[in-house]
Amino acid sequence: MAKVTLKEIAHSYTGYSENSDDYALKKLDLTWRDGGAYALLGPSGCGKTTLLNIISGLLIPTKGQVLFNDQDVTRLPTEQRNIAQIFQFPVIYDTMTVFQNLAFPLKNRGRTKDEIEPRVIELAKMLGLEKDLYTKAQHLTADAKQKISLGRGLIRKSVNAILFDEPLTVIDPQLKWELRSQLKFLHKKFGFTMIYVTHDQTEALTFADEVIVMFEGEIVQIGTPEALFERPEHTFVGYFIGSPGMNIVPCRLEGNQAMIDDHALILDKSYPDISAGAKIEIGIRPEYLRLAPPGGEGLAVNIEKVDDIGRYKIVRVGLNNRKFNVVMTELSGMTGDKASLVFDMNHTNIYVNDHLFAGDRL
Ligand code: ATP
Repeated sequence: MAKVTLKEIAHSYTGYSENSDDYALKKLDLTWRDGGAYALLGPSGCGKTTLLNIISGLLIPTKGQVLFNDQDVTRLPTEQRNIAQIFQFPVIYDTMTVFQNLAFPLKNRGRTKDEIEPRVIELAKMLGLEKDLYTKAQHLTADAKQKISLGRGLIRKSVNAILFDEPLTVIDPQLKWELRSQLKFLHKKFGFTMIYVTHDQTEALTFADEVIVMFEGEIVQIGTPEALFERPEHTFVGYFIGSPGMNIVPCRLEGNQAMIDDHALILDKSYPDISAGAKIEIGIRPEYLRLAPPGGEGLAVNIEKVDDIGRYKIVRVGLNNRKFNVVMTELSGMTGDKASLVFDMNHTNIYVNDHLFAGDRL
């Protein structure tokens, strides 16, 4: 296993350029600790695969260095990096049995039968493949084939890192959860350095100890699943994580007041002057908003829609043209379509040009 360091990495598919817009990956610095489980999360086109390919050696970055345990591997070919990579679609030999497929990476490296057999059986059990060990892969379902692919990635104990590129896309939704928790268990048992690429927040948050959120070629936040939820450092993290995502509306700041159009919201922090022309927004997760009967504390809003989704309700309210989602278990005491919107100040954030802006607590 290895510590993986990316030092001032940037990549442009059109070659070196002075213009940062030409870069699919903007400058990034990152260290993944030996044995950590990480997810790279972001929308399509944000640069996840580009980054993964730079780590595996399929791409040489335009700028910067890749280090494995402080050894520079930037220009080392893939086969010399000792990496296992698992792709969206199964990469297996259809005419081989499950056993032969799992054994292949070890056999290829000259391991003996006595070393191979117990390892294959151990892994097949963990992946729920033991009853099919001597069945040819071609007779198995798409799910089982992807399990073989995962197994082939996990079979060698000596790999520097295991890279997963959206590996559960072809898996039946019910099985996804099972495989995700199996991967987490295998990570704990074997201590691999694992990097898991996905655009699915549930996959990222359940798999990883730490999630790297990417947006338009840049890392916008690195944090535990809890930190990403509780304290989004960028509006994209607020919007992308959570269901529904964070409410983000434009505002003006006047000392300790946020003006949302003509409505004043008293904050528990004061903010210094912000340069003219900056984009200022207020952000709060639906879980930290509450509706009270009209006329009380809070901003007067209209209830526009209530979606009852079982354990809680998502209430859509309008502060004139500004819309907010509120998550509540009960709408008790509320009659008609008028209400007061109450903000939990501990979770009310100000963003300047999309970045979290810390004020001075009053
Ligand atoms: P997805 O989830 O859709 O795979 P991604 O986050 O993995 O997306 P990348 O595939 O890394 O994103 O793409 C990042 C950017 O680089 C995109 O704008 C994409 O169009 C561009 N890109 C990717 N591969 C190439 C290539 N071979 N040549 C030129 N541009 C490319």
